[in-house]
Amino acid sequence: MYKAFDDIKKALSEGKTTCVALVKDYLARIEEKKHLNVWNEVYNEEALQQAAKVDQKIKEGNAGRLAGMVVGLKDVIAYKDHGLQASSNMLDGYVSPFSATATERLLAEDAVIIGRQSCDEFAMGSSNENSAFGPVKNNIDETRVPGGSSGASAVAVSDDHCLVSLGSDTGGSVRQPAAFTGTVGLKPTYSRISRWGLIAYASSFDTIGVIANNVPDASLVLEIIAGEDDQDATVAQEPVPSYSASVEEKPAKKLKIAYIKETVESEHLNKDISEKTFAKIEKLRAEGHEVEAIEFPLLDYLLPTYYILTTAEASTNLERFDGVRYGYRTEDKVDLEGLYKKSRSEGFGDEVKRRIMLGTFVLSASYYDAYFSKAQKVRRLIKETTEKILSEYDFILMPTTSAPSFEIGKYGENNLLELYLGDLYTVHASLAGLPAISIPNGEDKDGLTIGLQVMANRFEEEKMLQFSHYLQEL
Ligand code: GLN
Repeated sequence: MYKAFDDIKKALSEGKTTCVALVKDYLARIEEKKHLNVWNEVYNEEALQQAAKVDQKIKEGNAGRLAGMVVGLKDVIAYKDHGLQASSNMLDGYVSPFSATATERLLAEDAVIIGRQSCDEFAMGSSNENSAFGPVKNNIDETRVPGGSSGASAVAVSDDHCLVSLGSDTGGSVRQPAAFTGTVGLKPTYSRISRWGLIAYASSFDTIGVIANNVPDASLVLEIIAGEDDQDATVAQEPVPSYSASVEEKPAKKLKIAYIKETVESEHLNKDISEKTFAKIEKLRAEGHEVEAIEFPLLDYLLPTYYILTTAEASTNLERFDGVRYGYRTEDKVDLEGLYKKSRSEGFGDEVKRRIMLGTFVLSASYYDAYFSKAQKVRRLIKETTEKILSEYDFILMPTTSAPSFEIGKYGENNLLELYLGDLYTVHASLAGLPAISIPNGEDKDGLTIGLQVMANRFEEEKMLQFSHYLQEL
């Protein structure tokens, strides 16, 4: 199977393959790997028809820039007239009446969408075990989780079910699964990509992200889906550079890179991850770049701030699922209030309910100032402090996760906090609204993949993509 879009384009232009042949291969692979539980729905016939149209366009010489790219969508990204469910019973039977802007832009460039992928329910989780359709297995070790919440999207790319996936990243959901599956996971600056058609989890954090086998593919997709959109007033007006044109350039000057001391030297960090991270740091130094350890005194505040603010926003966003407007409705004969309550109790899974309750609590009159207001202030401090670091350094480098993928079922109701703690390295960029990317950085002693994360300043995706491509090749 092809691992890079450049190779596909070459094979298509030399007549060595067709878009239909590619889709057939992916469909066969999806069927063969059904037990991994990656797909909530596969668009078999339709994808083949779409591919035939693309082949025709290629023949006529008027195909778009993504002709030959087969894409999977996380089940939180809308595709007109297709099911959209966020892996939740709450949206049982829901069909989206419109497409996400990102979806439309992919289609306009002739990408083929092959299906929608499982995820943690409403994108809440770090393991893809919280889907109403059961856990997703990691293709690298089937007893382990693929990460979450875009775990299935990462497996789909790593295991050749499609070339690229669109996921969503609120606190690491694209980067952490990328680390767990040996793929590249890109979260752009907040507001770089339109959120129109993305099911909301925590709106001031949510971004669509890209999972690919390599940085150039991720760059091309970002370039196509990013930028202004009349449907989403929060999208940045900032022009979108041609990321894919510059991604393979080497850094023009010696770079200054920071790493937060505790994130790499902590005794809680897995030994292999720490070693591999330092090995890269040494390589960068050998190339003449400056890499320095810095302090980040707000480290302990990252997780509490993230979980207070995101649950608060989630409790508000998920209010709309009331059993009347979308999807699931209780069958019991009850009054209106009972209908809301019963539909929500039956439709949502445990993790989603937990977060709605926590979010409602931190927003309640007596606790609003103590939790929500305070967390907002801390978020501002985190943002300002991080931006200050990035005005002095080109990038912040850190592992994507503190440990590699874990066994399915390892975390239950009694040690959930431990699972949340695993998000420490990814929530930083999300709180600050900054772009970050996870690239593969080898394996641990058991063959489990490790991710290395690069964080850059606002709208510095171009520089970040270039650097991470270079870093991966080092
Ligand atoms: N694991 C984090 C959470 O559960 C991140 C999820 C996400 O980015 N969607 O909130």
